[in-house]
Amino acid sequence: MTYSRVGGVGADEERARAAAWEALVATARRTVADGLVVGTSGNVSARVGDTVLVTPSGVPYDRLAPADATGVDLDGRQVLGTLVPTSELPMHLAVYRATDARAVVHTHAVHATAVSLLVRELPPVHYMTAALGGPVRVAPYAAYGTEELARHMLDALTDRTGCLLRNHGTITYGTSLDQAYDRTAQLEWMCHLWLTASSVPGRTPSLLTDDQLTEATERLRGYGQRGYGERD
Ligand code: 13P
Ligand code: ZN
Repeated sequence: MTYSRVGGVGADEERARAAAWEALVATARRTVADGLVVGTSGNVSARVGDTVLVTPSGVPYDRLAPADATGVDLDGRQVLGTLVPTSELPMHLAVYRATDARAVVHTHAVHATAVSLLVRELPPVHYMTAALGGPVRVAPYAAYGTEELARHMLDALTDRTGCLLRNHGTITYGTSLDQAYDRTAQLEWMCHLWLTASSVPGRTPSLLTDDQLTEATERLRGYGQRGYGERD
């Protein structure tokens, strides 16, 4: 694999970047395949050392090749590739500067975006609310790609791993691309669930209490297989 590089990196870091780029492109394609975005909407990033690999702005994900790898440092200076990085660099970088995130996924998922038009917080209709750190907030509207939007997002992410962006979409982060992606998919699913239940005339959905959410948080710590990710 060849990169147009600014500043040299070692062979190990170059291999790590190549693997991360492949995984990032696969995740970006998944957002389209799973209906979470249309066309070139949304963006994905992954952190490798102090480099943040990002999807380039406005390029269909099925056209992205290894040579299109695009990366910036934590100050947003381009250190890899020649394509213009995503316009949402301010949001992605704000997450990496403020948290231990290794991956960030931004989408325009339709149910989540619909919920962002209606409430200031997604009501806790399901225990998976706990997987995102608690009831998911809606960040106030600001134009896409702005530092103002990044500030609103960071506020809404306090103690959370995901939030909604009013009249825009979703953003989630995680310690891997798979985790960040899964959080987006769960968030979209919960928004769909709440919209479905709350659209039944004359009925109001039941909500989980703080105690029930705390209990779910505890139980989720032990969820799944131990050491599953460390196999092979
Ligand atoms: P980019 O193509 O620049 O990543 O923009 C898509 C988007 O979702 C902006 O909010
Ligand atoms: Zn967007």
